[in-house]
Amino acid sequence: MHPDAREVLITEQQIANRVAELGRQISRDYAGREILVVGILKGAVLFLADLVRHIDVPVRLDFMAVSSYGATTDSSGVVQIIKDLEQSIEGRHVLIVEDIVDTGLTLKYLQDNLATRRPASLRICTLLDKPGRRKVPVQVDYNGFVIPDEFVVGYGLDYAERYRNLRDILVLKPEVYQK
Ligand code: 5GP
Repeated sequence: MHPDAREVLITEQQIANRVAELGRQISRDYAGREILVVGILKGAVLFLADLVRHIDVPVRLDFMAVSSYGATTDSSGVVQIIKDLEQSIEGRHVLIVEDIVDTGLTLKYLQDNLATRRPASLRICTLLDKPGRRKVPVQVDYNGFVIPDEFVVGYGLDYAERYRNLRDILVLKPEVYQK
């Protein structure tokens, strides 16, 4: 286990199994269609890379970046687009791929924003869901794991830009935040 970790919440193997399952489910649901997968930078990048390799319908990729927590673990509630999509989504089947739904503010904003661009369909896939912290309701179509109200890192998720490269999903020791 990483020295900064208090516990491993989800192992590399559990992630791999669940991501493969999600890919199979998405492939079934989108049979005969092409998906425009919209990854939310940077946290969803590792998840997206693994997920799309388990999807066997045609896939296009695009990315958005939105403002997030910065170096703290509390949501400001303010969402801002830092990088927008490079292509039109009009008439396309869009699947937003996110790392985690916490308050729901980020996804609610993205969903409302992308819906105005007239996609043929718009669904959400998230690796993690922390329903205990929700401030606004969000309809999640595909969810990897429901987790308790803990700040997690690893497999793309960071604290102050660190730990994204860890293969498991971990809860950090409290003293790490006080450094
Ligand atoms: P929301 O807008 O739903 O509150 O938060 C979404 C974003 O907050 C996520 O995309 C992620 O960047 C960040 N976030 C929320 N909870 C966690 C967490 O437990 N760990 C990390 N590393 N980021 C989180």
